[in-house]
Amino acid sequence: MADEPFYDSPTPIEAGLRCCCPRCGEGKLFQGFLKLAPQCDRCGLDYGFADPADGPAFFVMSGVGIVVTAFFAYAEVMWQPPIWVHLVTTFPALIIGCLATLRPVKSWLVASQYINKAEEGRFESLGRHDYDPRRL
Ligand SMILES: [Zn+2]
Repeated sequence: MADEPFYDSPTPIEAGLRCCCPRCGEGKLFQGFLKLAPQCDRCGLDYGFADPADGPAFFVMSGVGIVVTAFFAYAEVMWQPPIWVHLVTTFPALIIGCLATLRPVKSWLVASQYINKAEEGRFESLGRHDYDPRRL
């Protein structure tokens, strides 16, 4: 324990906004647009633990979809614009909003997974029902 270097780890929100390593806060988290790097290029943290699955896409689609759809509905009720106005405003707003927030949200979820040591659930079986091998 004493030989481990000290890391001033960022909060999950900070790591998400900066798209950086959740342990050192300096290394890059992504190798491409959404592909995670195999490990941190600064502290060597293996990103193999990171598996946010569909979480980032779900949160981004839900959040951006609610905001943009609310704006679409408001504009439709207030001004009744022609459909081409929605095609040049609402549709690009959905695409740009999703693309702009997907990386930070994925980084935030990976940092939360690292800090909370979250992983896939496993069953700890004691064998058959009402059988505890520790009592033998
Ligand atoms: Zn790092």
